[in-house]
Amino acid sequence: MLTVSVLLPIPVDRPYSYSVPDGMTLAPGDLVQVPIGPRQVAAAVWDGPVDNVDPEKLKQVEKKFDCPPLDNTMRRFVDWLANYYVAPAGMVLKMVLRVPEAFDPPGFVPGLRYAGGTPDRMTPARTAVLELAREGGAWTKSGLAHAAGVSASVVAGLSNMGILEPVEIPLPNLTGDPDPDHSVTELNDAQQEAAARLCGFVEEDAFTASLLDGITGSGKTEVYFEAVSAALKNGKQVLILLPEISLTTSFLDRFEKRFGTRPAEWHSDISPKKREQCWRQVATGKVRVVAGARSALFLPMHDLGLIVVDEEHDPAFKQEDRVCYNARDMAVVRAHLGNFPIILSSATPSIESQVNAEQGRYQLVKLPQRFAGAELPELKVVDMRRNAPPAGKFISKILIDAIAHTIEKGEQAMLFLNRRGYAPLTLCRVCGHRFECSECSAWLVEHRFRRQLQCHHCGYSEPVPEACPNCGTLDHLVACGPGVERLGEEVDAIFPEARTIVLSSDMTGGVKRLRLELDAVANGEADIVIGTQLVAKGHNFPLMTCVGVVDADLGLANGDPRAAERTFQLLSQVTGRAGRSGQKSTGYLQSYQPDHPVIRAIQSGDRELFYSREIEARRVAGLPPFGRLASLIVSANNRPDAENHARALRRAAPAGSQITVLGPAEAPLALIRGRYRFRLLLHGSRKDDIQGFIRQMIGNAGKERGSVRVQIDVDPQSFL
Ligand code: ADP
Ligand code: ZN
Repeated sequence: MLTVSVLLPIPVDRPYSYSVPDGMTLAPGDLVQVPIGPRQVAAAVWDGPVDNVDPEKLKQVEKKFDCPPLDNTMRRFVDWLANYYVAPAGMVLKMVLRVPEAFDPPGFVPGLRYAGGTPDRMTPARTAVLELAREGGAWTKSGLAHAAGVSASVVAGLSNMGILEPVEIPLPNLTGDPDPDHSVTELNDAQQEAAARLCGFVEEDAFTASLLDGITGSGKTEVYFEAVSAALKNGKQVLILLPEISLTTSFLDRFEKRFGTRPAEWHSDISPKKREQCWRQVATGKVRVVAGARSALFLPMHDLGLIVVDEEHDPAFKQEDRVCYNARDMAVVRAHLGNFPIILSSATPSIESQVNAEQGRYQLVKLPQRFAGAELPELKVVDMRRNAPPAGKFISKILIDAIAHTIEKGEQAMLFLNRRGYAPLTLCRVCGHRFECSECSAWLVEHRFRRQLQCHHCGYSEPVPEACPNCGTLDHLVACGPGVERLGEEVDAIFPEARTIVLSSDMTGGVKRLRLELDAVANGEADIVIGTQLVAKGHNFPLMTCVGVVDADLGLANGDPRAAERTFQLLSQVTGRAGRSGQKSTGYLQSYQPDHPVIRAIQSGDRELFYSREIEARRVAGLPPFGRLASLIVSANNRPDAENHARALRRAAPAGSQITVLGPAEAPLALIRGRYRFRLLLHGSRKDDIQGFIRQMIGNAGKERGSVRVQIDVDPQSFL
């Protein structure tokens, strides 16, 4: 009897051995169903030696799915990722095998077709149906009735008589076939040159990583579409990763304009049915282009020939729960393993990619100008120390005047504040009581529209009380600080006639409503838009000529080594929303520290200076990409257990290594969802084997007892 290695989508590091029933042939990559304990799970036949045990003693593979196998690249990718992020290989595979319903071929839709003959008694309704049916082809019952303009019972009657006979209709493809030449954009010289280089890499059909670097509006999308087109002409599949894909309808529309059909979408908001179809049709090669969020990286595309990572600097590509990984970095790995090109696109590249480009590991492809003379907004810093609005208000006179001027001209203004809700803190004016989440170290955020106090970490909410729960005084609660809802109130009071929209990710109506609202803004149906960071991403608002950043200092003050970079990227992106179609536009940064290097860099527009300073600072401190970091986050449902295990891990650090261990320290977010958290930070040079070091620490520290959990985060982006 034969034996195979099978990797299961559970927290295991290596495959298990199973015996193969007579008559079944299996090869690495095949998807199978196997028993584990009392359950049956979908898993994948894996590479590597099988255990040396008597096959008679092994459990048997239950079933082989009728599905294309995971190819060699995909399997090596899973192993590579598991090794790099010190994650169980099974949990990485789980991200690939997300949709077990897709492993069997899809069913058919029941349909009808003309079988011959005519009914004894003809009616006009029957005639209408038969005229269509006689043209041939298969119809669904309701489709035929609808097309003939009759009720479904007429069709049912003809079917009962045997004049229409049942037939199985295969499910339609999720998307059409993109046409590489559907509507070719005429590129300007700089764009042409950039596109030619990228297409050259596609033609070489080998690994090259390129950084496509150009300010917002310079035509990066148009340019990488040419590379997509070249890959399609070579018969390859293409994957485009986007942050916040669920909101980028405008991207899908643009793609459709260029290629005649939408790409398949992959993100958390698509229906289970669509998800199943997408997975299957990607695996069988029917879907040629996928535009997706980070998890699309794990789709089993078998003929992948190009990956594009748009807004490559975006923090949304980093996953922080379960397996911590960075989809941007892993996309490069996947391209490398598959030996095909990858394009990283951004107006404000990450320091990591910038350094890779400078050191020649990535090809630098630059677009120096905005398309067709569209100018970047002029940036003004509003010194809030001298222009402070009255207490409880947040918009300076300078910004109010600018908004008034903008909407008078029939153009749009945007106010950006990265804070959901009405106010970040609520307190009692009488006793000073502050409303705090009992499960997290966080204030409760007031959402006035919903009359709730909400925790943004665990989702807990309670109604806003009339009396202070501490001193019992009625009607003396005050809101401290601004959220977008509160800005909305302030704007309504100043501009009662203006059409104002407040957009944030938690508004009622969800993603659908948000998409509609964003379209409405793009169509000019709003005068003033107030939003959190989701309005900063990728949307094209042609009438937007004034952007005000309400609190440009937000995000500069935390202990995150990337704070400056992040602020620079976010604010550049926000102000880059303005003036995309040629009008003169202005961005206002309200700041209490106008001399801060980041604020100055943004205002001066001297990007190169900002990057060179930031890169130098990282080099001196040995921070990524010049050194390596990893975090271990220890949590437990009580403080002593978490702290003790964190200390045990520290003691378990192997001696004689260059890697330094900082901590354990209580995490800045010391409590989340009732779990107490401690952090250890590992810092080494690029040459150090930080993964090996972590494995030894975990191995030496002994089992995690009780509620203790250790989360490993290699190349961490968040330090909270
Ligand atoms: P980026 O991705 O760099 O922000 P886009 O590709 O979105 O830039 O281009 C900005 C705007 O300019 C879009 O509306 C796009 O359609 C338009 N555009 C860019 N290049 C061209 C071109 N060669 N011909 C026509 N329109 C273009
Ligand atoms: Zn909470």
